[in-house]
Amino acid sequence: MSAHLLDGEIFAAQTHRETSARVTALKAKGIVPGLVFIRVGEDPASRAYVSRKEKRAQEVGIASRTLVLPESTPLANLLKEIDALNADPKVHGILIQSPLPPSLPNDLVYARVAPTKDVDGFHPLNFGKLLLGDPSGFLPCTPAGILEILRLGKIPTAGKHAVVVGRGQIVGRPLALLLARKAPGADCTVTLAHSRTADLPAITRQADILIGALGQPLFLRKEHVQPGAAVIDVGVNRVNDPSSPRGYRLVGDVDFESVKTVAGAITPNPGGVGPMTIALLLSNTARAAEDLSR
Ligand code: NAP
Repeated sequence: MSAHLLDGEIFAAQTHRETSARVTALKAKGIVPGLVFIRVGEDPASRAYVSRKEKRAQEVGIASRTLVLPESTPLANLLKEIDALNADPKVHGILIQSPLPPSLPNDLVYARVAPTKDVDGFHPLNFGKLLLGDPSGFLPCTPAGILEILRLGKIPTAGKHAVVVGRGQIVGRPLALLLARKAPGADCTVTLAHSRTADLPAITRQADILIGALGQPLFLRKEHVQPGAAVIDVGVNRVNDPSSPRGYRLVGDVDFESVKTVAGAITPNPGGVGPMTIALLLSNTARAAEDLSR
């Protein structure tokens, strides 16, 4: 048996087309959606991520630019830059690329972004709205992108058992809440597993939908998977590879080759969750501009 491929590039292209049409409608009203990325330091992976997001933003017609700050930037200076972007009417979305240098506390920085421009969905107010089921907030892009993959991949969710492995703040925790919502495309019974979960394979083998968001290379293998389950691989892990020009390669949390032999559907990695995360970021940016233009 070989699993059906949940191709994030194809799904993302569909979302990009919809976003592009919304951007065209905004421009007809004289509004150009603007997105600013803030990158602190020169982490090579962050540089690559930001330039990929910027390229996609431009393709859908969003005006985007990147503010690059040195690794040594004091907190007060970064907060001042965020305040200026919050006050700039041409800027509808602000994304602070993680990871931030250890000297900059994530919680203070993310909370400084105006909630109406928080297109990443990391502000505590938007997280609270997610918890309350208030649709006026921005949903975090990776969990929202995973819901879109399930919807566009026609994976049934209502009454299904979803097991999310990893309770991180950016992916696992908000995703578990979203899957458990009383709403179309959700209504799952959810188990949120983590590093202290006892007998993890016994839990994951009960999953109709299994999501790997733990940041452990190729961790989930076919022994973890119920035959026919839909498997979503969120992980982006760097493993040493002397044969690669960069000296490393990126792998997911799911051992694709082993799992595809038992799963009913599976995301590739790369080419699964990553492209959908960007698609949701741009869709959120279009929405920020729509909201502010009302
Ligand atoms: P995180 O905050 O470090 O959380 C990792 C979670 O995994 C923790 O809850 C941890 O448990 C759990 N965990 C670690 N080892 C485990 C094990 N052996 N068994 C069971 N659970 C285990 O990570 P994150 O920010 O959520 O990111 C998770 C992964 O997603 C990373 O690889 C990251 O790069 C990737 N990611 C991808 C995208 C994308 O767009 N594709 C976006 C964001 C993140 P404890 O809580 O008990 O420590």
